Amino acid sequence: MPERKKLRDRIIARYYKLFIPKAYDEEKGEMPDLVANDQHPEILFVSCIDSRTAPNVIFKMNPGEALSHRHVAGLIPPYNPDWENGANPPAVAAAIDFAVSDKKVSNIIIMGHTLCGGIKAYIEGSASPLVKAWMENVSPILDKIDSSLPREELLRQAEKECIKYSFHNLMTYPAVRKAMTNGTLNIEAWIDDIENGVLLRFDPKLDDFVEMQADGTDVPEHITNVPEHKCSH
Ligand SMILES: [Zn+2]
Repeated sequence: MPERKKLRDRIIARYYKLFIPKAYDEEKGEMPDLVANDQHPEILFVSCIDSRTAPNVIFKMNPGEALSHRHVAGLIPPYNPDWENGANPPAVAAAIDFAVSDKKVSNIIIMGHTLCGGIKAYIEGSASPLVKAWMENVSPILDKIDSSLPREELLRQAEKECIKYSFHNLMTYPAVRKAMTNGTLNIEAWIDDIENGVLLRFDPKLDDFVEMQADGTDVPEHITNVPEHKCSH
C-alpha cells in the first residue's frame, strides 16, 4: 500500500510540476489553444493496453495530436449493424466512429506488439474470465494457426493474425469505408516489435508484415534490423 501511495503522489506531482507548466505555457504550451479552439487530432491509434507500447509515449505525441483507444490486444471486432439498433457496441467501435465521423481523422493506425500478454494468456488457457471472453473475438483466427509450431513462433504468428484480422474488420465500419472511398482516410496496421525496437507494417498486397525504417519507408528486403538469433525462437 505505501508503494502504491508513493506512485499515486508521484504522478500527481508530475502533472503539476512537469506537464502543466509546459502545456499551459502562454507562449509555447499547446493547451490554451486546444481549450479555446477544440482539438483537431489527425490520427487515431487503436492499440493494446500494454505499458510498454503506449502510442502517445513511444511516438512522443503532444496534447491535441492523437486520439488513442487502448484495450487488450488492440483488437477490432467486425462491424455489427445491430449496434445502430439498440445493441451495445464495444467501446472501440464508438471510438472509431467518433474519430472518423466527428473528428475526421486522416489516419487510423491499429498497433499490436510482440510479447502480448493478452494473446499469450488466451492461447495458453490462463486468461482471466473477461480477457478470455474478449479474446473470443479472434478465436476463429487463432484456431487456424498451426498448433505444432514452436511456442514463441506460434505467439508471434498469433499477434500478426490478430492485427491482420482487426485491419480487415476496420474496413467493415461504414464511416471508415466511406472516408476511404472519398480518399480522406488512410488506415494501417503495425506491430511494435518490442524485443528488437522496430516497427512492422502489414502490407495487404503481400499479405505479410514488412519492417519500416526511420523515414517511414520499408526496409529493403536484403537488410533487416532484427538480429538473426532473435528470429529463430
Ligand atoms: Zn498486448
